[in-house]
Amino acid sequence: MLERGGTIGILGGGQLGRMMAMSAAELGYRCIAYAPEGDNVVSCVCDDVFTNKWDDTAALAAFAAQCDVVTWEFENVPVATAQAIPADRIFPHPRALETAQDRLAEKRFVEGLGGRPAAYARVDSRSDLEAAVDRLGAPGILKTRRDGYDGKGQWRIGSARDADALRLPDVPLIYEGYVEFEAEFSVILVRGQDGEMRVWDSTRNAHEGGILATSSLPAGLAIEAQVDEARSLAEQVADALRYVGVLTLEFFATKEGPIFNEMAPRVHNSGHWTIEGAVTSQFENHIRAVAGLPLGDTATVARGVTMTNIIGDAITTAQDFLGQPDTHLHDYGKAEVRQGRKMGHVTRLER
Ligand code: AMP
Repeated sequence: MLERGGTIGILGGGQLGRMMAMSAAELGYRCIAYAPEGDNVVSCVCDDVFTNKWDDTAALAAFAAQCDVVTWEFENVPVATAQAIPADRIFPHPRALETAQDRLAEKRFVEGLGGRPAAYARVDSRSDLEAAVDRLGAPGILKTRRDGYDGKGQWRIGSARDADALRLPDVPLIYEGYVEFEAEFSVILVRGQDGEMRVWDSTRNAHEGGILATSSLPAGLAIEAQVDEARSLAEQVADALRYVGVLTLEFFATKEGPIFNEMAPRVHNSGHWTIEGAVTSQFENHIRAVAGLPLGDTATVARGVTMTNIIGDAITTAQDFLGQPDTHLHDYGKAEVRQGRKMGHVTRLER
């Protein structure tokens, strides 16, 4: 168990790390971050920030030497970076990153545990794409196997002709059949160092342009009927990875049951509602897990919850939300406002 006053290192400098560090501070810990990319928003809640490159082994060693335990908030941290931290001091284990960073490896892994992803085919060339569209049909979605997020690195293929017209990027790809879903949801769980697991309620997640727009509870019957099966898969994934911390699996609710979309080995945007909407937030439980503390209750505390992402220049008027009852604004403090960028979120509860 990490003593009070202990130091937690966070790989990554985005809003997830910022909210983790805020929870860590409440539990009496200090945080330092390793954040080479972008305008990091952890600096005001971390004692120190290393801005060295991901492959700077000397800087990583200096960072690790200052940390009692290390975790990550960003799933594209290079596996070699995570492996440079002594294995008994990093949670979750880097094997979770390795599995989740490649859409092909991730789907095969989850299938091996009995999960059902959308029909998919590996695409490394134009002839692979032709064969994939031939076999799986169109519409479908072509995705980069690595580094995609918030709908980036994805192309909707409406027909074989669309596929012919596309200039293929020179990276490994995967083609997925289009899933006719009724709704989207995620399972967010936390697993402790002793293997105990707790799970939050699953929200209905609505996306706009590939970016999460809202997460809401109650999630509705289509989702509620499928949550148990999805949870059981998520728990198997967590056990198989001997995972420690918060893990997220995203699903499509379809007429044939839950179809696995992807996993994120970290706290998740669709769990931001837990800060006000659950007894213990995803951020606090992640810190509890990596610190070896007892896990907190994940029960929902309200009849209804809506978390709305604030994207791009909507942040300039976000303070207007504060006039509404039981409404909580989280501004991530990002200096650069860009279209499509997650700038903050707002959570509204109905008690
Ligand atoms: P992803 O980055 O894979 O989570 O994709 C972002 C969003 O695109 C998802 O949340 C869905 O709304 C949509 N999407 C992705 N893959 C598919 C698919 N195979 N069929 C239908 N919609 C999809």
